[in-house]
Amino acid sequence: MYQHDSLLLAPGPTTVPREILESMNQPMTGHRTKEFSQIIHQASRDLQTIFGAKHPVAILTSSGTSALEAAMVNVANPEDDIVIIVSGAFGDRFRKIASSYPFKAHIFEVEWGKGVDLKEFETYLNSLNVDVKAVFTQFCETSTSVKHPINALGKLVKQFNPDIYFVVDGVSIIGAVEVDMEQDNIDVLVSGSQKAIMLPPGAAFVAYNDRAIERFKEVTTSRFYLDLNKYITSLNDDSTPFTPAVSLIRGVQTYCDLIQEEKFENTIKRHEVCKTAVRESLKALDMELLVEDEFASPTVTAFVPNKDEVKTIKDELLNRFNITIAGGQQHLKGTILRVGHMGKVSPNDMLQFISALEIILSEIREQSVLGKGVSKFQEVVNQYV
Ligand SMILES: *Cc1c(COP(=O)(O)O)cnc(C)c1O
Repeated sequence: MYQHDSLLLAPGPTTVPREILESMNQPMTGHRTKEFSQIIHQASRDLQTIFGAKHPVAILTSSGTSALEAAMVNVANPEDDIVIIVSGAFGDRFRKIASSYPFKAHIFEVEWGKGVDLKEFETYLNSLNVDVKAVFTQFCETSTSVKHPINALGKLVKQFNPDIYFVVDGVSIIGAVEVDMEQDNIDVLVSGSQKAIMLPPGAAFVAYNDRAIERFKEVTTSRFYLDLNKYITSLNDDSTPFTPAVSLIRGVQTYCDLIQEEKFENTIKRHEVCKTAVRESLKALDMELLVEDEFASPTVTAFVPNKDEVKTIKDELLNRFNITIAGGQQHLKGTILRVGHMGKVSPNDMLQFISALEIILSEIREQSVLGKGVSKFQEVVNQYV
């Protein structure tokens, strides 16, 4: 067999660019030094472009889930009524976090694979006869590859009641999508390091607006490491409240430099090309997609092979081509496959995936599909370059 370089197309962790790996390998520096102050100052500000934020972005040393929890415990008071949109495994995580605290969580269930229906959500909000303090949602529900209509949702929430805090989990999409916290009516926007931001796992990000800063101060929910007031106070001194992941924050700086070099609008376009090319190729290979085009995420695509093909496709991609993709989560396990296209990913990388998939499918189906997906892929890419 040939040796293939590994191609990591899981929806996180994703491939880390060489430049980032190298900057993370710089000699260690103390976190109470001038050198580190400069790094955190620049990194937290450069991230503002990526998050569409007006304040420096707080960086936590912990995985993405910590930012979900931080957002919740700094926005909700004990006994507050909060609404959680659950459309997959990560909405479910918000639900589980809420159940660990004395919040009154109201769950708006969305069928897995579907985007939020705005009319139904409005009806739901109206049907709750309580004073809703906050609404929590995923931007991209990674487990299904749905991108929710965040701008329209934010508008709806604020029209329903401008006092509600709108909290968005952007872990698997921030860095690959246009977002503007003000225009999108987002009060708190969180993310993690190992997905579209193409760093190793271990850092989490929280962006916030003026209203959120004031809210964090007045909320009394018990918290210590995840008290965002500490992070904001420290950021004002170009510092962090605890020992940060110094190397990862060097990596954040390099990540921001790479995006500035590419220009963020081009980064976004690159993700769009990858998404469209992958989706059109899969369709050309008679592969069912879990999500309709309207709600398709630019960062991950879920597809539905025949039941007996699922395991073979995933295993063969890894064993023969050294390509890693992901299966489904919870009840979608064994039903869907998910291919990530975020972070350091180019159409060329995705073309390798489609071409390997064609070889595998041709064998499984005992009929050649060689070139069917690839030629569609080329057509799509050709429209962009
Ligand atoms: C990956 C992910 C998380 C959780 O992040 P961890 O780093 O595993 O804690 C949360 N939300 C979404 C949407 C994700 O994709």
